[in-house]
Amino acid sequence: MVERRCGYCEQIFHPSKYQPGQSVCSDSGCQRRRRAEYHRQKIAADPEYRQVCLDSQQKWRSRNPDYWRRYREQHPAAVERNRQQQHVRDQKRRLRDLANNNSAFDLKHSAAGVWLLGDGLQNLANNTSASAQVWILEALPPRKPPQSESCKQQRPGTPAASAG
Ligand SMILES: [Zn+2]
Repeated sequence: MVERRCGYCEQIFHPSKYQPGQSVCSDSGCQRRRRAEYHRQKIAADPEYRQVCLDSQQKWRSRNPDYWRRYREQHPAAVERNRQQQHVRDQKRRLRDLANNNSAFDLKHSAAGVWLLGDGLQNLANNTSASAQVWILEALPPRKPPQSESCKQQRPGTPAASAG
C-alpha cells in the first residue's frame, strides 16, 4: 500500500484508491484547508469562478440580511478582537500613507528627525509587522538671546545660546 505524508499535518496516510493523486490526508481539518486553498487559487486564476462566488455571496447576503448583526450580538468577544485588529490595520495603513506621503499631512517642509528605538523596530524598517507608535513632537522654537546682549557684544569663544 502506498504511503504519503500529508502536506498540512505531516502525518503519514494512505491515498484513496479512487484518488491516487491525493496529497492531503482525510482529516477534516486538513480537507478544509485543502478546499480553502483551492478556492483561493481558483478565485485568483479564474475570473468566471470569481464572479460566480461574488454573485452567490450577494444572493446569500440578501437572503440573510440580519446575519452579521445577530452574529455581533452573540459573539461580543469576536467583535472586540476584530475591532482591535482593525485598529492595528488602520494604524499600519496610516503609517504606510505617511511613508508614501499620500493622504497624510505633508511633512516634507518640516524639519523632523525620526528615531527608531527598541529591538522590534528592525521589523518596522523592513516593512514587516511590528507594533510601534509614532510620536510627533513639536520642536521648541529657537531661544532668543536676552535683549541686552547683542551679537556684537559677544566675546569670541562664548557660545551664542548660553544656558541661563
Ligand atoms: Zn493531514
